[in-house]
Amino acid sequence: MLKRQNHSNFKRELDKRSSLSPLCLKLNNSLVRCLACAHKCLISEGARGICKVRFNKNGSLYAPRGYISSMGLDPIEKKPFFHIAPGAKTLSYGMLGCNFKCPFCQNHTISQISDNFDCLENFHDIEPSQIIDYAINQNAKIIISTYNEPVITSEWSLEIFKLAAEKQIKSAYVSNGYASEEVLNFLMPYLDFLNIDLKTFNSENYSKVIGGKLENVLQTIQHAYKMGIWIEIVTLLIKDFNTDDAQLNSMSEFIANISPDIPWHITAFHPSYKMTDKPSTDEAIIRKAFNIAKEKGLKYVYAGNIQSSDMENTYCHCCGELLIERNCYFIKSFNIKPDCEKAGKCPKCGSSIAGIWF
Ligand code: SF4
Repeated sequence: MLKRQNHSNFKRELDKRSSLSPLCLKLNNSLVRCLACAHKCLISEGARGICKVRFNKNGSLYAPRGYISSMGLDPIEKKPFFHIAPGAKTLSYGMLGCNFKCPFCQNHTISQISDNFDCLENFHDIEPSQIIDYAINQNAKIIISTYNEPVITSEWSLEIFKLAAEKQIKSAYVSNGYASEEVLNFLMPYLDFLNIDLKTFNSENYSKVIGGKLENVLQTIQHAYKMGIWIEIVTLLIKDFNTDDAQLNSMSEFIANISPDIPWHITAFHPSYKMTDKPSTDEAIIRKAFNIAKEKGLKYVYAGNIQSSDMENTYCHCCGELLIERNCYFIKSFNIKPDCEKAGKCPKCGSSIAGIWF
């Protein structure tokens, strides 16, 4: 009884913080098709999409607006982006909800809202101009929608990103990559950088465990790259889920075929949320993935969630010169000469090093 009451209070608070969405098709009989992510939910009057935060009211689609669940200042390396403005301060914000159901989600208290009707305390009302003012005050160079899945609240982020661009602040998503082509077009030219989580290369894992289709995530990576958005890819390596040689080979080949310049972050899993039966990922697995990725031609592969200096630094792909020395999220030395818009140069051999080095 209390649970049902909490649920309806929660929905009421969520719906108060929503506005009409243009990211939809209006169909007969008050049906709408949401175009914000690759699920493309068909939503009937009074119902919600898979993400639970977008809903059909009187035959129109409504999407979240005017609040955040959390906001924080972080070095850009923490997102992780390793080839954009090393050491830059970012302002990250998140809302509520997700279009996936990953059992290892580290932010499940804000993403899996059906599990958490206590999320009421997570509504902090705010306007885009206040977020921008805070970013300017804090000298944040990049604003990032993260913590929960950003594509499901793209209308709100676009408002923020447009104001950010006026103040020469760059904008980014840390996303699960389940975007539609429509939402990527909608966000352009204001989405500068995109970090995409490639969770597995096994279709069944995606459909049964995550709640999506592998091919849609691969398409997002391909589309975003073609559109000129700077991309970095992250894979949380989980034993017996995505660490077999076949998957590691396929992921590496897929990324390298788009561009060997795309950085790939392979990070160590630690048991969390509903996935407590798998062990923490050890360094041997990370190193195996690292070596496979290098063999497949990826120039920039980085280990995360474990300390391993040779796998967190940036080296010149041509002469091996140490270009960026990192210690976890901190930059110890930076040795790239900015060159053109999306590259710098190795000071030793002059090779082009892909990245946004401002
Ligand atoms: S954002 Fe995705 S999951 Fe949410 S309603 Fe739209 S299509 Fe469905």
